[in-house]
Amino acid sequence: MILIRNGTILTLTERGIIKNGDLAIKGSDIVYVGEKKEWKEEFDTIINAEGYIVMPGFVNAHTHLSMSLMRGIADDIPLESWLSDVIFPIEAKLTQEDIYIGALLAIIESIRTGVTTVGDFYFHMEKVAQAVKESGIRANLGFGLASKFDMDSVKLKLAEHFINRFNDTEDGRILASFAPHAPYTCTVKFLKAISKRAKSMGVIVHTHLHETKKEIADFKKQYGVTPIEKLNQVNFFDAKVNAAHCVWMSENDMKILKEHNVGVTLNPQSNLKLGSGIPDIGKMYNANLSLSIGTDGAASNNNLALIEDARLVSFLAKGSTLNPEIISAKELLKMATVNGARNLGFKDIGLLKEGYKADVILIDTDKPNLTPFTDPYSLVAYSMYPTDVDTVIINGKIVMQNKEILTVNEKDILKEASTSYARIKQFIRKP
Ligand SMILES: [Zn+2]
Repeated sequence: MILIRNGTILTLTERGIIKNGDLAIKGSDIVYVGEKKEWKEEFDTIINAEGYIVMPGFVNAHTHLSMSLMRGIADDIPLESWLSDVIFPIEAKLTQEDIYIGALLAIIESIRTGVTTVGDFYFHMEKVAQAVKESGIRANLGFGLASKFDMDSVKLKLAEHFINRFNDTEDGRILASFAPHAPYTCTVKFLKAISKRAKSMGVIVHTHLHETKKEIADFKKQYGVTPIEKLNQVNFFDAKVNAAHCVWMSENDMKILKEHNVGVTLNPQSNLKLGSGIPDIGKMYNANLSLSIGTDGAASNNNLALIEDARLVSFLAKGSTLNPEIISAKELLKMATVNGARNLGFKDIGLLKEGYKADVILIDTDKPNLTPFTDPYSLVAYSMYPTDVDTVIINGKIVMQNKEILTVNEKDILKEASTSYARIKQFIRKP
């Protein structure tokens, strides 16, 4: 059992903030959150959280972990060229070992910046699952799919096999999903078949949707309607969908997403950096969409600090609506935690309450940027540096304490990532 004492606890529930409180963990679960009390139980670990903010870990609801190996190799170019001229040719050369090391590298960065759950999708996903298993992070792992055929039974079967093998494993820490890349790399019929299969298997579909203006224009030329409208016609949204981006949407597109309770994961840094556009977050928030936040991969962001994207989500909404009251600091923290967990299909994740899984982070406030100690929601939402996170607990296990990663050997992984990069950099060609 673990006891965290004397912290300022942001429950993100109706109980609000508990000052100088206790949080007790047994196995993978939170068993007590509340006022400080006398305990008869013996604890294996007691953490003194005086001067720390204690809150649920952040959820990065859309990323591609292994792309961290391609950080900084394709900057300052648009998405289409970024993908076809640089990223796709290198991806064709990545080995399973690269995928594994890249995932571990990204997971270490995630844990260091307080991320306890990731929604990843890529290829060689069994190697990503291995990295997730060893590191202790929580993840929904999407089996990446792209096909120009209307029915690609081989790929669908491989995805099913992956999902059957990994979904709801590691004590619920790993979920698995179907991850069709996008409507411009998969046919509508294939997307329909994927959604049908996901629904019957009870797993989510994680996909890119409405990322660039060009994507919508090309699709409209072919079908006369937007990708969201077309997918709605074939009942794609009958499955639980986590849609990344949604930068360019009509009122009708938003209505469809709302009606089907589609999870929308905003990745504003990636959208801005690739020049894809500025998501109308104010409108989406006012339309009451189920919004969560992602970083996208480190090749287009270029880091995985979820809190940076969260801050940008808030500021874009305030700026575009001319309304500073939209999205309070507390609301923003819920988008960055519990909303992300729900959009990724996790239950009982993202709040500090009894019966929920113990995914908890401690933020050291003995920092110039977090002094004076005013409103803790505000300090986290607007003032913290990603690396102010000191200790991270996932599924009841301490994975980082006093800034030291405990589950994997960080030094070795950084070295191996550089070795992987030294091999793949020969395949980089500038557009
Ligand atoms: Zn993406």
